Parts: sequence; structure tokens; C-alpha cells
Amino acid sequence: MVKSKFPIAILGATGAVGQRMIQLLVDHPWFEIAALTGSDRTVGRPYGELVRWVLDDAPPPDLARMIVRPSDEVADVALALSALPTDVAREIEPLWAARTAVCSNASTYRMAPDVPLIIPEVNPDHLALIERQRAERGWKGCLVTNPNCAAIGIVMALRPLHDAFGVRQVHAATLQAVSGAGYPGVASLDILDNIIPNIANGGEEQKVETEPRKLLGRVVDGRVAEAAIAISAQVTRVPVIDGHTALLSVAFERRPSVEAAIEALESFKASEPVRGLPSAPERPIVVRREADRPQPRRDRDAGQGMSATVGRVRECPLLDLRLVVLSHNTIRGAAGGALLNAELLVASGVIS
Ligand code: NAP
Repeated sequence: MVKSKFPIAILGATGAVGQRMIQLLVDHPWFEIAALTGSDRTVGRPYGELVRWVLDDAPPPDLARMIVRPSDEVADVALALSALPTDVAREIEPLWAARTAVCSNASTYRMAPDVPLIIPEVNPDHLALIERQRAERGWKGCLVTNPNCAAIGIVMALRPLHDAFGVRQVHAATLQAVSGAGYPGVASLDILDNIIPNIANGGEEQKVETEPRKLLGRVVDGRVAEAAIAISAQVTRVPVIDGHTALLSVAFERRPSVEAAIEALESFKASEPVRGLPSAPERPIVVRREADRPQPRRDRDAGQGMSATVGRVRECPLLDLRLVVLSHNTIRGAAGGALLNAELLVASGVIS
């Protein structure tokens, strides 16, 4: 469906998420990287000389030679994937969105009323907010966000359960990987042999409690009417490299049996245009029935890191059901999530 590849920029290309974006874009059928940006620390130098590559292999040779550009100079591209820190994104993403489409990982604008917060399998219709965004902000481009890396797996699992049985309450306890803190992230003396019950001074819990309500909400008259779900979150950082785990207890309007819940999870499919996107996993949710799954090391790469793996679906003595959800935080929860949103923008005709 794409005749020639769209030139794209990666903002914050040297960080943990920026590197993952580069890795996922190697041989991408629709996009080719035309610009990489960084901070004053790295601008003007070849990418390969300054990046501290934290993934396997090495940066592709043609990108290693590319000169890093300032993040506040908007390049002539069809699309920008942003992996900028939250405070930096506040100034810089609107500069780019005025001229081009921006798919951002940063939390800065996720909850803004005119900014779509999107998981393509969950709420592709929320792209309708772009019309209002362009009208109110006078942008030629647009700004679309993907959710917090712990919230995304939770919401992928809740979508089919909410549709079938009506989710009322969720208690979520998370065990989050160290790569979620970027590079160099958490000091080794803090995290080895340890669990830290606080991420971003309470900010992470707030995201897990609020973002699912927007994602599972409905667009009414150009605004999102949030889903009326009460969520209580407790988050922890654990000594795992990649893969966020969430332990959920859920109360429903219509209490399902364990088998009915598993059936809803297993039969969940994305809508037709989303299913055909290059980065869309064949199965958004993989259900494991073994008593000791999901596990980060064994399950984080399901669907090339784009599927959420669900297990331990059981009755709950407090709420109705409990389950465990695992998702890859730097792929589905960050770089892959932004890339899938970018593909959705192409498939929806927002980028042409
Ligand atoms: P990171 O490893 O700290 O990388 C930050 C990037 O931003 C680097 O490329 C850095 O460039 C650039 N940068 C820093 N200050 C800048 C400035 N003043 N101007 C321009 N560029 C600047 O962070 P990360 O983990 O990749 O996270 C990136 C974003 O994604 C954050 O908003 C984060 O909250 C979000 N996120 C991360 C994850 C995850 O799992 N890690 C998941 C979801 C969302 P230099 O190297 O040139 O300094």
C-alpha cells in the first residue's frame, strides 16, 4: 500500500527507547530514517561514535555515520517518532507537530484533552481527536501518544474483558524492569538483590491509575468520555532487564467464569486495518495456561515483543477474577507502540 518509503526522524535517538526505534526500523517496509536528534551533548557528531548502544549487535552502519541534529530544528520529514524526556518534550514536540506528524512516548501530553492516547488494537477510533487538535492549535501535523509502559499491557488485557463483562474496579501491583528507567537508569547498588516500591515519586502509579480510563473511554463530540473504572496501583522496580509484569485483581459488572474470561482474552483480535499493519502482532494477547507463566525472560518476546502475555486467570476471593499480564516495556511499551501508532496514521490516511 506504500509506494515509496516515508522519511522519518527519531527525536532522542541516543537513549534506550531511541535505540529500540532504530532497531525496529531496520528494513521497515514503509519508513526510512532521515534524521536523528539528540541534546547538546551529542549534536554535530556521528551517531555511531557517541551512542552507548545498549541492545544486541551494533547500530546499522549507514545510521552510525549519520550526524546527530539538534532536537529543536524541525526536519523536512513525514513523521517524527519521539523518545524525548518528558520536560524536553513539552517545548520540542509542539514545534514538530506544527509541521509534521509526531508519535510520542513521552507522558507530557498523554492526558491533554485534544491529544489521542492510542493503542491501535484498543482504541484506534480516538484518532478522531486529531481534527479538533489541528483546529484548536493551528497545526498542519499532529501529536499522537502511546501509553505508559506498565499501563499498556494492563489495558490490552482489560479491553476484551471490559467489552464482554464491564470492568468496574482494578487493583494492580506491578514488577517493572530496569530498562524502563532508560540508560544509565537505576544505580546497580540500589537494584541488585533488591525491589524498590516507588517509581518517579508516585508518578508511575498515577499514570497506571489514569491512562487506562482514557484508553478505554469513548469519543463523544470530539472529546474522550473516560471509562468509569476505579483503579488502585502499587508499582515496584525489580532486577529484570526487560519486561513489565502486572498482577491484577478485577471486579466486573457481570462476573464471568474463569473459562469465559479466558475465551474473551484468547479470541481478542484487532480491527481489520490494524491487523494488517507491519508491526501488528498476529495475536495481541497470548494466553498461557501453565501455572508458572508468564515470566519476563520466557514471554517478553511473544509476537516479536508486541503481544501481551496473560496467565494465572483465576477466581479472586476479594474481587471477581485475578490474572497476571506481561509485556515488553521498550518494545510494546515504548518504541514498538509508537511505531505501530505511526503505521496506523498511514493506514488511516493522516499521513499520505
Ligand atoms: P533516556 O535513555 O534517558 O534517553 C533520553 C534521550 O533524550 C536521549 O537521546 C537524550 O539525548 C535526549 N535528550 C536528553 N535531554 C535532551 C535535551 N535537553 N534536548 C534534546 N534531547 C535530549 O530515556 P528513554 O528511556 O529512552 O526514554 C525516552 C522517553 O520515553 C521518556 O519520555 C520516557 O519517559 C519514555 N518512555 C520510556 C520507556 C522505557 O521503557 N524506557 C517506556 C515508555 C516511555 P543525548 O544522549 O544526546 O543526551
